[in-house]
Amino acid sequence: MIVGVLKDAAPETRVSILPEHLATLQKWKTSISVETGAGAGAFAADNKYAEAGATIASRDEVLKTADIVLSINSLPAEDIAKLKPGAVVLGAFQPLFNFSTMKEWATKGITTFSLDMIPRTTRAQSMDVLSSQANIAGYKAVLLSATLFPKYFPMFMTAAGSIKPAKVLILGAGVAGLQAIATAKRLGAVIEVFDTRPAVKEEVMSLGAKFVEVEGAADASKAGGYAVEQTEEFMQRQKAKIAESVAKADIVICTAQIQGRKAPILVTKEMIEAMQNGSVIIDLASSTGGNTELSQDNKTISHNGVTIVGNSSLAGTMSSDASKLYGKNILNFLQLIIDKEGQVNLNFEDDLVKGSCITTRGEVVHDRIKSLI
Ligand code: NAD
Repeated sequence: MIVGVLKDAAPETRVSILPEHLATLQKWKTSISVETGAGAGAFAADNKYAEAGATIASRDEVLKTADIVLSINSLPAEDIAKLKPGAVVLGAFQPLFNFSTMKEWATKGITTFSLDMIPRTTRAQSMDVLSSQANIAGYKAVLLSATLFPKYFPMFMTAAGSIKPAKVLILGAGVAGLQAIATAKRLGAVIEVFDTRPAVKEEVMSLGAKFVEVEGAADASKAGGYAVEQTEEFMQRQKAKIAESVAKADIVICTAQIQGRKAPILVTKEMIEAMQNGSVIIDLASSTGGNTELSQDNKTISHNGVTIVGNSSLAGTMSSDASKLYGKNILNFLQLIIDKEGQVNLNFEDDLVKGSCITTRGEVVHDRIKSLI
């Protein structure tokens, strides 16, 4: 059985599996075929894959021979047409936004697993690509804001005068937000945080930040670990409180997302115009519309002296560690679908296999994706 590793197209820098992951795959009696240059963006050269036991091959060879194909992002239709009948494709394909592509893959007989859909249970944590990558994004968002901010983060008392600590506002305390809090704290900032899930209050406070409470958020406890949409009335009350915090903030890190939906707008143009010159906003939610009215995806703009960075791919700026963690997530998942003989064995009784499977046997099988089609 062959596991194929594709080179994701630019601007992607990450790769699904690094040479260090290959020993485990070999223990499972699989052969590994890696597309030429697949790991280049993550500083993993072809010879390192070859030394670890992989065969380096052209893209067409990988597509035509692999039983399991690894690609972080979606594949073009011409690649899908070249796959072996019944091939398994594994990645993070955002099927909630790309449901028509999923329908096409189903008709081609592809079995698709999308790890961004894995149920957020305790057992799934080691396979949760959204978490491993959001952790990096939260860390990098703070570092990026610190380099763009024309002032210090920490408080200083020097012979040349005193420096006040930077005030950082973090919107959304999920995986990215919590890492952003920890990173900003290590740099000496004073931090305020908003989230609609009251359960995160304790975590936020234990990291040394202030949690600003807004009463009456919709209950997300039955949403499988994901946030839910809020009422208009709640959003108005929340916006009024956020406006007070934005006006004081030097840095705003936006991470609030609702799975499969447009991100909530939490910061208006008016709020941005009330910020000090030199302030910085990093919007990690920009690919789904952003948390501010002015964020533009993959663009850095300046509005009234405020720098607004729209970037939902910050994990890719740390391609080496991002690939290391993503690859470990992939290995942990592969363990569920490769049996002791090194063959693909799909057990749809397993909630993680079922929950992340989007297409198989000619059909879209994931309930949420089916409902969108
Ligand atoms: P996410 O990226 O979908 O959202 C980020 C945060 O934004 C969430 O905390 C959400 O509550 C918040 N948010 C949404 N709307 C908001 C609004 N209007 N105002 C303020 N904040 C808003 O979330 P995530 O980081 O992927 O994880 C969310 C939850 O899932 C967390 O509880 C996390 O612990 C849990 N989780 C569980 C597992 C697991 O058990 N396998 C893995 C990862 C995450």
